[in-house]
This record gives sequence, structure tokens and C-alpha cells, in this order.
Amino acid sequence: MDRRTFLKLSGAVAAQAALWSPQVGRAEAESASAHGLGNPFLQEGRWFKAAFHVHTTTSDGDVDVPTRLNQYRKLGYQVVAITDHWKTNDLSAFAEEDFLPIVGLEMHPQTGTGAPAHHFVVLNVPHPFELDRKLAAQAMIDQVLSVGGKVIYAHPYWTTHSLNEMLEVAGYCALEVFNGGCHVENDTGYGSVHWDQVLNKGRLIGGIATDDVHNSKLINIGWTMIKAPALNAAAIMEAIEKGCYYASAGPTIEDCRIEDGVIRVITSPVRRITFRCNGVGGGHVVQAKPGETLTSAEWKFAGSRRRYQWIRVEVADEMDNRAWTNPFVIPTA
Ligand SMILES: [Zn+2]
Ligand SMILES: [Zn+2]
Repeated sequence: MDRRTFLKLSGAVAAQAALWSPQVGRAEAESASAHGLGNPFLQEGRWFKAAFHVHTTTSDGDVDVPTRLNQYRKLGYQVVAITDHWKTNDLSAFAEEDFLPIVGLEMHPQTGTGAPAHHFVVLNVPHPFELDRKLAAQAMIDQVLSVGGKVIYAHPYWTTHSLNEMLEVAGYCALEVFNGGCHVENDTGYGSVHWDQVLNKGRLIGGIATDDVHNSKLINIGWTMIKAPALNAAAIMEAIEKGCYYASAGPTIEDCRIEDGVIRVITSPVRRITFRCNGVGGGHVVQAKPGETLTSAEWKFAGSRRRYQWIRVEVADEMDNRAWTNPFVIPTA
């Protein structure tokens, strides 16, 4: 990461931190919200269930675009991005009042480290959208950003990537904290360690959960719940930019917020709630008694000598299906 990127991202962290500071006025907080991750549980709007990593017969999926969109519609999704390898699809015929298809693709530029190629999920580009496959990874990301698209770092564990690969490029707004296909087929679906390491380098990014569906039998394993004021591409992209979402492979997170140095979460029944944060040995785990479940937990993190920079919540149900909030940035003052 170059110095300019670090300073820019550190600024974003500081701006978001101000959101949680009781001393900050409303106008300051509102202006700050444009630069950091927001809290979806405090935002006005509706929840939309989203699939952001989806393949069809346009690349190596098992069904065509209309069939795939219909599968997700029947499963209760309102937002579906079709992200075939290198190729976009014309989705203009499928948008409805209660259903938003998003044009995307998955791109695979080479790494500069000699590791296997990057996999980036790209959302919200025009169709057709041609990428020069010989471009360096950063130039490819920049091309997507220049047309208003979003870039997500896909399945870093499956790709055998480390921080070396994740920090050699900038401009992605989230990573896949869970990829259902990688999880079922290779047990490499989790990206939570990669996420924490990136956060600890000062990059404030979100975590999404996806199916990366190729085979229709492996669908609705991981999804992202987005809070937005309306169901249109601009509102959904803004919610992604602000981090107004949480990721899930099962549990529902009903609420999560920080007040007076205490973080509280309310969920569907789970057996473990983890508050994860920066720092050696940091965090707090609340475990249900044998045979019981939890639907809430809290952690008073303020008052200790430790300096918390960020805290995120991860829950696991009785089948070890998980859900993840985005990180909350903690005020330094
Ligand atoms: Zn991939
Ligand atoms: Zn994929």
C-alpha cells in the first residue's frame, strides 16, 4: 500500500470514528458518513437480500441467465448480480419493481507476486463491457471504477492469497468473508482472517457472503442483506459503498450498535457470538450453555487500557452457519 492510499484510508477511518463520538454534531456526523462504513441498523430503508457472485452458461454455470435469475427470485432475493468470467450479460429485460438484476463479471488479472491470479467480482458496469485481459491488476480495477463499478476481492483463501496479494492492489470496497461454493467444495470459503489482516493495515473494507453459484444444487448458501432507501442500482451501490449491509450463511442479525462504550447485538438463535477486534488476543466470546441458544449479547469494551480501532461481530448457529457484521470503527477520543 502506498503512503497516499494509507493516508486516504486512515482519513476514512477517522471520519467513521466520528460517527460514534457523542461530541460530534449532526452535520459533522452526516458529512463523515459519506467516507466511512455506515451502520445499516441505524439507516433508514428496507432490507434487500442480495446475491453478488453468480455464474450462468455465459461462462461456466449450469443454467442460462433467465433460469438463474428465476431461481434466485423464487428463493426470495431482490438483488442478483450476474458475474460470469470476463463477460457481461444484457439484463435489461429482467428488471422489475421488486427485482433488481445487476450487470457484473468476474475478472482474473495476474498477481505481481507470482501467486495464482486474482479473482475480483465486479458489480454495476455497462453491457457490453470489454476489459483488456493483459492489463495489470490495478489498471483493471481502475477501469472498472472509472465507469462507476464496484470491485470485491473474491475468495482469497481458495486462491491461496495472503496479504501480499491483497495489499498490492487498492480500490476494492469489500472482500468475500464467505464464498459458499468454495466452502462446500474445498472448505476454503471463509475469508475472515484475511479480512482482519486487511483491516489491521488500515483499510476499511466490508465483508460480503456469496454463493459463487455454478451448480444449481449449490445455491442460497451465502448471501448479503443490504439496507437501502430504494431498490435501484444507484441506491444499492451507495449502500455497498457505505457498508450498509451484513453477510450471512444462515443467521439473521436483527440489530447491532454501539452506545456508551458497549456494543450490543440481537440475532436469530445462535450458539456463539464473537466480538472481534484489532490487537493481540483481543475480542470477546459469548457462548450458549449446552443445549441452549443465544439471541443477544453485549460487550463493554470501553474503559480498558486497550485502544480499540475496530470491532466486528460474528455469530454461529447450532449448525455452525455464520453471519458477520461489517466493522465498527471506534473513536480514538
Ligand atoms: Zn473466482
Ligand atoms: Zn466465481
